[in-house]
Amino acid sequence: MRILLVEDELKLANAVKRVLELQKYAVDVAYDGELGLDLAVGEEYDLIILDIMLPNFSGLEICKQVRQEKITTPILLLTAKGQISDKVTGLDVGADDYMVKPFSFEELFARIRALMRRAPQLEDVVLKIGDLVLNPITSKVTMGETEIQLSAKEYTILEYLMRHKNSIISKEQIVSHVWDYDADVLPSTVEVHVKHLRDKIDSPFNFNLIKTIRGFGYEISDK
Ligand code: CA
Repeated sequence: MRILLVEDELKLANAVKRVLELQKYAVDVAYDGELGLDLAVGEEYDLIILDIMLPNFSGLEICKQVRQEKITTPILLLTAKGQISDKVTGLDVGADDYMVKPFSFEELFARIRALMRRAPQLEDVVLKIGDLVLNPITSKVTMGETEIQLSAKEYTILEYLMRHKNSIISKEQIVSHVWDYDADVLPSTVEVHVKHLRDKIDSPFNFNLIKTIRGFGYEISDK
């Protein structure tokens, strides 16, 4: 899952990016409103976190523009303590939730999980296909009783495919939702990670979960 964080306080922005990456999210950071707006409308994200007070464009303006572009990505606003009217305006311009600074990382994770659940096609917290279970809270993947150790990228690819089960996902979609903007990733890199993923979740269990759609991408199906 790929997140855009627009926050001009460098220390906070970098700390949030670091902890989110530990939770296996891919994170792009914009330190000002202009870049934030460019990325928010030009790239594909699963969640956008917007600080309200920003240089150039405010978080509220970005939010408004994103919704005008018919982009439905969940938006979490960050607001300074006591700016009650910001919260109201934020929800009015199409934000899904807001959080008052300072916040704990635990609170941030909980909000993110709730917002990801609210997005279309994202239902339960725990993702399940047959005996394969992926728990986004613990980042654990199990097949029946057996826990499967995955690398961060393998895990994120699997999570993305499971969240979009029964749809064909292109390698380009995987690249844009699993890697951040700075990463220079080729479709062949995706193939390598998917191969490793299959070696861990398909081969040992005599399973063929990840199907290759020739010339296009992959599909995980539970039908
Ligand atoms: Ca700020």
